[in-house]
Amino acid sequence: MSEENFVAKKIMIVEDNVVNQKVIQKLVKILGHDSLLVEDGHRVVEMAKSYAPDLILMDIQLVGISGIEVTNLLKNEEQLRFIPVIAVTASATIEDREKIVRESKCDDYLAKPFSPKDLSDKISRFVPVKDVGF
Ligand code: MN
Repeated sequence: MSEENFVAKKIMIVEDNVVNQKVIQKLVKILGHDSLLVEDGHRVVEMAKSYAPDLILMDIQLVGISGIEVTNLLKNEEQLRFIPVIAVTASATIEDREKIVRESKCDDYLAKPFSPKDLSDKISRFVPVKDVGF
């Protein structure tokens, strides 16, 4: 996509691991988007109402609440339900991951560990990204 037509979108990053936070924030920035980091799963609904993200990257293994539960809370909110949610999960097997998609309201999932291209490809399903050669 050409630079002059590019509009930065708002991506909420729900992640409690410091290393993953840094990697994902950096990649989202490289892809041309703004981001808001939320570490506490219990605050996601409230933060989504104020930030109004265009896309949410949702860690599944959070402290005290799972990303699946958080996604279900989001999808029960009239003003938030159309925001796409990509589950980011380290679940070991393909069956586990398919179960997550089937039994939650996540719109897609990304398996950890992922490459920059994997993340770029997933995000670009929902919002345009800068072509940075991943
Ligand atoms: Mn986690």
